Amino acid sequence: MSINWFPGHMAVAVKKIQDAMADHDVVIEILDARCPMASANPLIESLRLHRQRPCLKVLNKTDAADAAVTPQWLALFNAQKNVHAIALSAKKPGDAQKIIAAAKKLAPHRNDNFKPLRMLVMGVPNVGKSTLINALLKQRKAKVGDEPAITKALARYDLSPTVSLTDSPGLMWPKIDHPEDGLMLAASHIIGTKAYIESEVAEFLAATLLARYPKALAARYGTPAEVKTLDGVGVIEAVAAKRGFKIKGGDFDFDKAALALLGDYRSGALGRVSLETPTSRTARPLAGVKNKDTIENPGDDA
Ligand code: GDP
Repeated sequence: MSINWFPGHMAVAVKKIQDAMADHDVVIEILDARCPMASANPLIESLRLHRQRPCLKVLNKTDAADAAVTPQWLALFNAQKNVHAIALSAKKPGDAQKIIAAAKKLAPHRNDNFKPLRMLVMGVPNVGKSTLINALLKQRKAKVGDEPAITKALARYDLSPTVSLTDSPGLMWPKIDHPEDGLMLAASHIIGTKAYIESEVAEFLAATLLARYPKALAARYGTPAEVKTLDGVGVIEAVAAKRGFKIKGGDFDFDKAALALLGDYRSGALGRVSLETPTSRTARPLAGVKNKDTIENPGDDA
């Protein structure tokens, strides 16, 4: 399954961001720590490279990601030219402040009232951008006045006389190349539910969790930890059995169980989970991926 997703307003946003890039010093790219590369928008990368802007990659929701995997991603990103990466949790008091110190290091020449550090915050939808920005703004919610390059879609805030922050709309890209990336984004609620079939996403999630976290599945749903023949469908049936989800006639209610699995992953009930690692990306495709349907963008409810 590959997912195409590009509402018209996103094309407009891209143009506005392209213009705004000229007036900003550092791109703050917010990623989902559970799937940092899948949630890295190639459009953001090309926009910032076009203007040669340094990038601070922020792996947010690190509280929900596998603590053994996140450092591997940080090492990979930190080896990239003009890039620095940090992991944090927007919901943890004080964590958001780490962004400012890290961004200052990427643009040390922007350090006074005349040359304030101008940060442009970007990322795909639902990755925690608003939570982070609100944490950074605290009480300072007043927008800075309009400027030529700052459109209504891009709100700029002064954090101090020497640091400003510009918010941008959650941005997707026209076509997701790898089906697994679309599935990871769907599982992590980064693309809206109208863009995919939930049971297929849940099947992918189940197969991924089975390959990477069989003990977590066994603990929550009673799946056998050692059985090699179990697959994504089997995991979802185990969820249905554990929760007593049945339809008329006594068969498992697969759709309800699929939703329950997605809900458990999204709420963190399965524990800290990373859907991809640098190694899993090089060893694609992940187990259990169906690769036949294409779902066109149906609208925007992410
Ligand atoms: P935005 O669309 O990128 O602005 O994302 P939001 O800030 O609205 O956050 C999307 C969802 O992610 C919300 O349910 C937040 O509560 C949740 N969220 C944001 N930051 C974190 C975090 O650090 N950890 C976890 N577990 N959830 C977070």
